[in-house]
Amino acid sequence: MAANWTPDSWRNHEGQQMPVYRDAAALDAAEGQLRNYPPLVFAGESRALQADLAQVQRGEAFLLQGGDCAESFAEFHPNNIRDTFRVLLQMAVVLTFASKLPVIKVGRMAGQFAKPRSAPTETVNGVELDSYRGDIINDIAFTADGREPNPQRMVQAYNQSAATLNLLRAFAQGGYANLHQVHRWTLEFMGRSPWAKKFSEMADRIGEALDFMQACGIDADSVPQLKGTSFYTSHEALLLPYEQALTRQDSLTGGWYDTSAHMLWIGDRTRFDGSAHVEFLRGIGNPIGMKCGPSLEPEALLRMLDTLNPDRIEGRMTLITRYGHDKIEAGLPKLVRAVMREGHPVLWSCDPMHGNVVKAANGYKTRPFERILAEVRGFFAVHRAEGSFGGGIHAEMTGQNVTECTGGAIAITDEGLADRYHTHCDPRLNAAQSLELAFLLAEMLND
Ligand code: PEP
Ligand code: MN
Repeated sequence: MAANWTPDSWRNHEGQQMPVYRDAAALDAAEGQLRNYPPLVFAGESRALQADLAQVQRGEAFLLQGGDCAESFAEFHPNNIRDTFRVLLQMAVVLTFASKLPVIKVGRMAGQFAKPRSAPTETVNGVELDSYRGDIINDIAFTADGREPNPQRMVQAYNQSAATLNLLRAFAQGGYANLHQVHRWTLEFMGRSPWAKKFSEMADRIGEALDFMQACGIDADSVPQLKGTSFYTSHEALLLPYEQALTRQDSLTGGWYDTSAHMLWIGDRTRFDGSAHVEFLRGIGNPIGMKCGPSLEPEALLRMLDTLNPDRIEGRMTLITRYGHDKIEAGLPKLVRAVMREGHPVLWSCDPMHGNVVKAANGYKTRPFERILAEVRGFFAVHRAEGSFGGGIHAEMTGQNVTECTGGAIAITDEGLADRYHTHCDPRLNAAQSLELAFLLAEMLND
């Protein structure tokens, strides 16, 4: 167990990007409530994910992590959960089919609420209010009341996460994810995308393979890997009072686990020496992600790895790089070399979203699909050149037919962004763009 660590030792460190709750009694009450609520995930499940991620580190599997930038109370609906889940399943099938590697599926779901912001306040027409920090903290509505951090929102986020996770578990194990259903995962509105046709052809081939197996006497429904699937959850461990309240001691091993999700990550803005977030994460047994952007120097990365994974446990650390399409090839090699030189076991995953935000002429924050692809290409080029394994992708995406990122086969233009721009934070790939990304990624994995 981590030395000199307790679930609340982060409180003696510098905590950035967290709200100041003005009502201390209300905060106490919400934390107390959450401390008595059941864990959302079990320690054993987090360990299973860690073993899966260790497999990825060895080059024997691939990681697919994706979901909303920010979940919201307003978009909480079973259809939204189902649609994001099924696009992730489609992406996983495409990647598995092409790479012949198992794909470990991790949602940015069932807890991805809190957001770091570039400025603590926002001024509109001369009125200055707190920035929106995600529904778990305050309201997106620009009113004094709405922007006031409200601790009861943590309880609502917990309840929404519990219901979301319940549905995800049912989808994963209750028949929906059965490979026999592969055709049904295509969303109606994706019909216009050329990639939907490609998916349908692939689904035919999978169907034939299953029929062949059946003829040979293997009943797909008796094979757990075909009948259902493993699906894990993750989010940025940003709002530490919430994470602490859900941190429990595992009765089996005595270790501490943050039971709010299987995997937690630390954002690019909170991973500095002396950070409260680093302090919190170093003590939990869950697999940990860390965002690595252009400002991260190799020496600082190695210090983080020594702090977060001093025992060099395989599968514990996922480094999620997010440079930008024009920076990755210059910036990433020095991190890869430092990590290889020191022999730290890590999983390299590519977040091609956060370094590629641009403002469209009409003011919308967007991400051009070509830049997202270019970063993924750069990521694999670097890992190929360095002899390391690029083992994962981290995407902000949704199963909805939104218009938030430009480009893709059904080209979304700058003007088209206004049609269905629904995100509460960053622009997401829509269902068709996500599937397209998976196909193009599969090609790169096969190169
Ligand atoms: C995010 O993943 O939504 C995010 C804020 O990323 P980063 O910390 O890399 O900016
Ligand atoms: Mn984001």
